[in-house]
Amino acid sequence: MKDTLRYKKIGIPRAISYYNNYPFYYGFFKSLGLEIILSDKTTTAIINSGTKYVVSDTCLPVKVYAGHVVNLLEKGCETIFIPSIQSTDYKINNCSKIRGLPEIIRNIINKPFTIIEPTLDKTEGLGFYDFWTETANALGIKDQKTIKNAVDAGWKIYDDFMTMTNSGVSYNEALQNAIEGKLLKKTVDIVKPLSVVIMAHGYNLFDERISLNLIKKLEKMGVKVYTSLNISREQSQEALKKLGEIQYWANELELTGCAAHYLLNKKVDGIIALSAFGCGPDSLMVDEISHHCKEKGMPLIHLTIDEHTGEAGFITRIEAFVDMLMRKKRNTLIQNAKPKAKADIINIKKEKILTGSAK
Ligand code: SF4
Repeated sequence: MKDTLRYKKIGIPRAISYYNNYPFYYGFFKSLGLEIILSDKTTTAIINSGTKYVVSDTCLPVKVYAGHVVNLLEKGCETIFIPSIQSTDYKINNCSKIRGLPEIIRNIINKPFTIIEPTLDKTEGLGFYDFWTETANALGIKDQKTIKNAVDAGWKIYDDFMTMTNSGVSYNEALQNAIEGKLLKKTVDIVKPLSVVIMAHGYNLFDERISLNLIKKLEKMGVKVYTSLNISREQSQEALKKLGEIQYWANELELTGCAAHYLLNKKVDGIIALSAFGCGPDSLMVDEISHHCKEKGMPLIHLTIDEHTGEAGFITRIEAFVDMLMRKKRNTLIQNAKPKAKADIINIKKEKILTGSAK
């Protein structure tokens, strides 16, 4: 007898694991025949509603997550996917809040709804396929072929998404195209006067309200921005190894590994670390990378965010950092120029030097 879906709709909070994994989620749940209900994009109202449920010293992403669950409940969605991602490889762990997300949400939001809460714990032998089988079983699907097809559909969209971001397509464009089944490849790489890499969790960086639109702000200042999605997992792993660091945290590749890659290949003029105030794992990772940056003379700024972060102060810090990078680049050009060209470089505007028109 054919399996019958226990629920017709599944809610996905647009927070935490959504940011890196939604292409997979989309392919998997659609293949099973579910309608996906996404919470709205993060707003101040969503942050405030989540903040009401969570103790004040919890990090911003968890407060935001709670706000998104409330948003889904307000939309009438009664089945919500809240995975417990414990470890992503043997002894490669997530922080306790991500591990315990279903428990946290169940205990703080005292409303009737069903949580679909599979566990990924490779340290305990619960791998990726077990995770998706557990999800499908909770939805009433037991047939192995149906589950395998859904996993394959998830991989297809996820791989397309990663192919696009690796080739330089922006996060939003890659996500949109991947779920529409399109594969877009960026062929022209725009040269900008300065470039930086942002080391941050996807859920902090690509949530435009949490990051206060950091990527767009930098691009407006003439800065080319690289993120962990522009490189492969293997490149991050290799860079981490070359720096002599050992991966411990599940998100280490998108933070330390990514920063290490750009630090070692000297492709950027500076590193911006963006993290949530009070995040233990991030502060360890930022410390680690700061130490290597000091050794290699790479400028780094650490921006922390919480629900009170004001846009004005945030912009001032970014502008000051970009300005410092510009002056540093200009001075390097002057130092390396032949004596005759030096005076000319000093006399022309820094923008011209940086765009290369002064060579
Ligand atoms: S890694 Fe940090 S920011 Fe992310 S959920 Fe854990 S404590 Fe919060």
